[in-house]
Amino acid sequence: MKHKETFGDKNNQSMEDIMNGLDDQVRFSKLTYILIIVLYIATTVLLAVISNSDSTLNLFGNPVPLKTLAGVLSSLANICIIFLVVFYKKTGFITALVILGTQFPMLIRKIFVLHVYGSIPGIFTNIFTLIAAVIIFVSDVKLAKYQKGIRKQAITDRLTGLLNRFACYELMDDLIAKKENFALVMIDLNNFREINDSKGHTTGNEVLKVVAKRWCDCANSDDTGTLDFVTRQSGDEFMLVIRKYLDDEDIMDTIRHFEKVLEEKVTIDECEYYLSASFGYAEYPADADNADTLFTYANTAMYEIKKINSSNHILRFSTDLLKEENTLEMERMLRTALEKGNIYFNLQPQYTMDHKLRGFEALARMRDEAGQIVSPGEFIPVAEKIGIIDKVDSMVFKKSAELFGRLLKETGADITLSLNASVKHLMKSDFLDELKSLLDTYDIPAGNLEIEITESIMMDSADKALACINSIKEMGIKIAIDDFGTGYSSLSYLSRVPADLLKIDKSFIDEMNNSDASKKYVAAIVSMGHIMNMEVISEGVEDDAQIETLRKIGCDFIQGFIWGRPLSAEDAEALVKGM
Ligand code: C2E
Ligand code: MG
Ligand code: MG
Repeated sequence: MKHKETFGDKNNQSMEDIMNGLDDQVRFSKLTYILIIVLYIATTVLLAVISNSDSTLNLFGNPVPLKTLAGVLSSLANICIIFLVVFYKKTGFITALVILGTQFPMLIRKIFVLHVYGSIPGIFTNIFTLIAAVIIFVSDVKLAKYQKGIRKQAITDRLTGLLNRFACYELMDDLIAKKENFALVMIDLNNFREINDSKGHTTGNEVLKVVAKRWCDCANSDDTGTLDFVTRQSGDEFMLVIRKYLDDEDIMDTIRHFEKVLEEKVTIDECEYYLSASFGYAEYPADADNADTLFTYANTAMYEIKKINSSNHILRFSTDLLKEENTLEMERMLRTALEKGNIYFNLQPQYTMDHKLRGFEALARMRDEAGQIVSPGEFIPVAEKIGIIDKVDSMVFKKSAELFGRLLKETGADITLSLNASVKHLMKSDFLDELKSLLDTYDIPAGNLEIEITESIMMDSADKALACINSIKEMGIKIAIDDFGTGYSSLSYLSRVPADLLKIDKSFIDEMNNSDASKKYVAAIVSMGHIMNMEVISEGVEDDAQIETLRKIGCDFIQGFIWGRPLSAEDAEALVKGM
């Protein structure tokens, strides 16, 4: 009630009043109304003047009596009356009745008292105009009633009788045109599906009707202090427009009130239901300046709060949430790329310190619909999050192994293919079978294949990971520990991993020549690797000074832009064949 003083009785408007207000908006301006009346008066006065005049008008050299124009003026006056009825409906009709009504006594006086018989046609014209006005008005009232019926159907939700989303959009468009602030709240009932599934759709529908009734009463009351308008979007989704608030806290208060009303027990067929909902909102004009974007933003906030599944069910939109949207877009892109086989690979060469090719690391690549390359830094985390990383890995495994097997056969080169495996992929029960089939299908000796795993693998599920790594080793395939130094694995654990190669992360190589301490740190990693019987490779080597330092330290291999960027399949093939 706190805003009643501020906004006066504006807040008393019911939702029906608001909708009718939108429908009844004047389509023609008051100015035109006045102009028509002025034109009518002018023609009537002119008519009176010329009907008593014997003057003539010179028309192309011919004298024409002014009286002959009387018919023209009289038609013009009647058209003004018809215009009023057609364009201004009830107001126009009443005005027409007043005008014609005042004219009758004057005309009758002229004929019967003053004996001006020239006014006889005038009285008939008035009668006919009156009949025309009545016919137009009555048919218009019928049409308007019919149109109102159709409109009511179009903006009313059939199941609940609440207004629907068309009404909500109509209101939002009107508020935006008037530049009036408002908040759009998207509401979705939580776990409504369970009621539908367990009790059937009829009960589900009854629940929706109860919710709609409660919220409709709530919007039509003054309880929230704001001016509220609630509609059903579809299914268990509702939209709420909140107006006449002072600040964000008012919006929250109103939403909390709707939430409280919803959470009261619902009883249907002697069964009790306790409902809750998720509310996401965005504000005009602070968050967006058009209805569609507001709708999207409010929806984004609503889905976010639903997903978080906390005790708080209300969230305001913020641009941070759009990043989440990008994930959805990336997910869609990834799935399409997988379906169409559009995940491919690059091969980045790895070299010995005296610049001999050790082998290649296969790196996943993806193009979006526009043909732009998407960085694995963007799509790999999404693929991991949504659980399709194994499919991405496998596509890279197969495509790169096919080329690699052929290269080995054609050149006889003794090089290694390193494949990145994600934790989820490695833990799959058929991972070993997949590797076996890879070796068999593409005729690759196990010793020429290497699987790169990151430290995080070992932290997630240590024993299972170790068992799997041991099985890979037993097959004769090499193991590399990728991005070493970025995780938190303990030394004791690391010593149990039968890895062949330790890959020092680029971040250490970047820093290495900046201080003596950083250099010593890299040197320590190299020594440690050697102590644990691993060879050591440095990732992301970009300049000669780094190569120099790494040589002194005793690093075994390097992989970096200085000697080789990730290459296309054709370029990698040319590199091996040119050796
Ligand atoms: P990673 O396995 O550590 O791969 C090395 C990354 O460092 C590659 O980035 C490579 O292009 C980049 N790099 C190598 N040398 C240099 C250098 O000198 N300078 C700079 N600035 N960068 C260098 P990319 O291709 O973007 O891959 C990023 C990460 O994505 C990979 O890091 C790996 O963790 C992941 N990834 C790539 N392909 C796959 C895949 O097929 N499966 C899985 N699970 N992960 C993959
Ligand atoms: Mg790697
Ligand atoms: Mg790495």
